[in-house]
Amino acid sequence: MTENGRNKIEKLLNNPVFHTIRDISDEMGLRSYVIGGFVRDIYLNRPSKDIDVVVVGSGIELAEKVARRLGGLRLSVFKNFGTAMLKYRDLEVEFVGARKESYQRHSRKPIVENGTLEDDQNRRDFSINALALSLNKDSYGDLLDPFDGMNDMKNGIIRTPQDPDITFSDDPLRMMRAIRFATQLKFRIEDATFEGIKNNKDRIEIISGERIADELNKIVMSDKPSIGFKLLEISGLLAIIFPELQAMKGVDKVEGRAHKDNFYHTLEVLDRIVPTTDNLWLRWSAILHDIAKPITKRYDKNLGWTFHNHNFLGSKMIPRIFKRMKLPLNEKMKFVQKMVDLHMRPIILSEDIVSDSAVRRLLFEAGDDIDELMTLCEADITSKNEEKVKRYMRNFKVVRRKLKEIEEKDRVRNFQPPVTGEEIMETFGISPCKAIGDLKAIIKDAILDGEIENNHEEAYALMLKKGKEMGLKPVK
Ligand code: ATP
Repeated sequence: MTENGRNKIEKLLNNPVFHTIRDISDEMGLRSYVIGGFVRDIYLNRPSKDIDVVVVGSGIELAEKVARRLGGLRLSVFKNFGTAMLKYRDLEVEFVGARKESYQRHSRKPIVENGTLEDDQNRRDFSINALALSLNKDSYGDLLDPFDGMNDMKNGIIRTPQDPDITFSDDPLRMMRAIRFATQLKFRIEDATFEGIKNNKDRIEIISGERIADELNKIVMSDKPSIGFKLLEISGLLAIIFPELQAMKGVDKVEGRAHKDNFYHTLEVLDRIVPTTDNLWLRWSAILHDIAKPITKRYDKNLGWTFHNHNFLGSKMIPRIFKRMKLPLNEKMKFVQKMVDLHMRPIILSEDIVSDSAVRRLLFEAGDDIDELMTLCEADITSKNEEKVKRYMRNFKVVRRKLKEIEEKDRVRNFQPPVTGEEIMETFGISPCKAIGDLKAIIKDAILDGEIENNHEEAYALMLKKGKEMGLKPVK
């Protein structure tokens, strides 16, 4: 172990919560250990607050005594799972009895029995996740690393402790976890382990969509999600869990003309959107922005490859994809649909002379999501032709400047009709009818096209004029 790792562990184990666990374990004659992800993350210098403590004996009993001695801390007990959780300052500690698991073929729910520490380490998915630190006085802080996880950590390797075929067949979620860890930690999946994933890919069918989505979202939110998506593709999992993305891979060639590989293009766009704590759905928009390209692809003798209307059709594909993948069907999905639908607009705009009315219309449709739309569009420029990229970036600057100017002047970002339906009805003494919607649309278009200013006075005057043309008479 490195000096650094030792220091960190010493500091950690000085926390009163661990001293209390040590004292009580010794008094009860039980062996207890900190185990799993928390130990791994200490060595990898990753932040982690969830601590798992495994006890050879009853986890709940130990937890109850620890909570009492620490001053009557509140304990959440989950009898069904044999676990108990307490919060101490900023740490969350979960206690569980060591267990042995045996799996049956049709389910990822194992038969669980009480076991030894060794049994408990044997049921862990990867060597780096099986590390344990002793909490008893005679060996306080000693590392128990039966599968050489420290070495794998040093070399950046994901490896199953047991036969990978059995590990992945027992619980196929581990295939997603392997790829997720490889992506988050930038580790390599060891060859036999990766073969195990390939061999067992079809077993993913027994895993619930929600669990797959959780892992996928962790891949999406890592520094370089393309690592994970490439591994999903090579292993054969992508074709099963996300066939629409798989369909983007490959190039067609007609008369010597090929289009770009939309799978790799998509991954490049995705990697270019810097992950922040709240842009998961912008990243999903990047994944899905060209999703309808395979179904809209045509070859035209004059134009070459076209993907007509792929933005609109792509946005229409999203509810089905989200439903199947157990992603939320709420405003988050609507946001992704909007991004996909509008993702061509800033580019088209920047290719032309940037007119005020086109900018106003874009602002109106994108609303508060305009900045994210621009981020997506800039990430979408992945051409190898430097001149072309420079030109686009220059034009985007113009678009951004115009967006700002026009928003300051015309405030169409959160457009509210300056004349309401009520006012139209009162003015002309009419009840709800089609003419009201028509008049509102005329006013909105006139504002967006810059024919009138976005204020009540000009909108009201236009309403009177157009109303009269439609045969309506003001009542006052
Ligand atoms: P993260 O906190 O980044 O999500 P983690 O693996 O540390 O990853 P948990 O999913 O809470 O977090 O798992 C805690 C530990 O439980 C793991 O380190 C591993 O030892 C074990 N574990 C979790 N899931 C599995 C699994 N499907 N098969 C085997 N062991 C598992």
